[in-house]
Amino acid sequence: MSQDTQENQSSSDKEIPQHAWDDSSGEKNQKSVRIGKIIVDRNLCIGAASCIAVAPGVFQLDSENKAVVYNEKGADDETILLAAKSCPTRAILVFDEEGNQVYP
Ligand code: SF4
Repeated sequence: MSQDTQENQSSSDKEIPQHAWDDSSGEKNQKSVRIGKIIVDRNLCIGAASCIAVAPGVFQLDSENKAVVYNEKGADDETILLAAKSCPTRAILVFDEEGNQVYP
């Protein structure tokens, strides 16, 4: 009997795909997408504040314990994307400069 260990190349199958950010099939000059707009869906936000922990220069909690974007340029794009990915409810929508939604 042989043990078959199936190893996928991408071990992060439980992670959120990074298609828009590191698309090797695309012809993007830069690895990271330039973020044009960040929106917090207040209906989804549960105030977990993960985004604030990751990007305190961008997000803060308002008086209703909902995250708000107070400075879209308060962190580099990579950090903002990390913050969006850290949100347990995917309440943070990220768009590139052309208005394309790149996350989630
Ligand atoms: S991580 Fe998500 S749920 Fe938590 S405060 Fe930020 S937007 Fe809200």
